[in-house]
Amino acid sequence: MQIIGDMLYHDDGTPYPYKKSPNKGGELTPEYLVLHYTASPNFNQALTWLTSRQAKASAHLLIGRDGNITQMVPFNEVAWHAGKSQWRNVTGLNNYSIGIELDNAGPLQRAGDTWVAWFGTRYPADEVVEAVHKHQKTSQGWHLYTAEQMSAVLEVSTLLVQHYGLNDVLGHDDIAPGRKTDPGPAFPMDSFKARVFGRIQEETEYFYETTANINVRSGPGSEYPILEGSPLPIGTPLEYLQEKGNWIQVDVLDEVNGVMDLEGWVYSRYVKQIPA
Ligand SMILES: [Zn+2]
Repeated sequence: MQIIGDMLYHDDGTPYPYKKSPNKGGELTPEYLVLHYTASPNFNQALTWLTSRQAKASAHLLIGRDGNITQMVPFNEVAWHAGKSQWRNVTGLNNYSIGIELDNAGPLQRAGDTWVAWFGTRYPADEVVEAVHKHQKTSQGWHLYTAEQMSAVLEVSTLLVQHYGLNDVLGHDDIAPGRKTDPGPAFPMDSFKARVFGRIQEETEYFYETTANINVRSGPGSEYPILEGSPLPIGTPLEYLQEKGNWIQVDVLDEVNGVMDLEGWVYSRYVKQIPA
């Protein structure tokens, strides 16, 4: 997926579904990502509600239990998802955050072998985790998020954090404690954040340069053929791709023209890391 003009697109350039919400206003200063559950019976009902004037609420994205994503507000406009809220010295997080709603029934009460939501739908025990919310004292049921949904929210969150340089991922319950409990204990916030920011770090580019006239080979070892363009002169800049043993796979960079059409393996003893 990719972002073009503050809207979400697939890699092939087709846009994600967009259902415009009237509940928005003003220019957004993106600093945070805020996650929510809908506490609603299903995706379509949540979408209808968040795009109806009477709701006086919205979010930038809604993610279904099948992993489908619909955009409701462009990422450069303020959506109404946070309400009265505070994080550190920032109040009114609507102006500073991108909001994602996850289709999820929210808190559930035990009803025999099953669990029941506030809107009356019953859920089997295997879709529920019993837990104490970090701001509460007693345990209750919490509707689990699906694997497809977690994979979608991880992918889009990583993209949003990277694209807009967001500082942190927060729950609605972090910025409105006592008033809100979403996304709740069923959402693995700590590991989710670690994965979002870990992925971004992995994608950071590292650069090297050669410290001797060295050959570029087709594989990680001196038994592999020397590639055309070798030897590289001292001081040739390289972009790091991966390493195996004492060998590093690199893209050879041409200082004038950017990337040369040469990718291969160099012996790590004859390169040094340089600032990007
Ligand atoms: Zn919320």
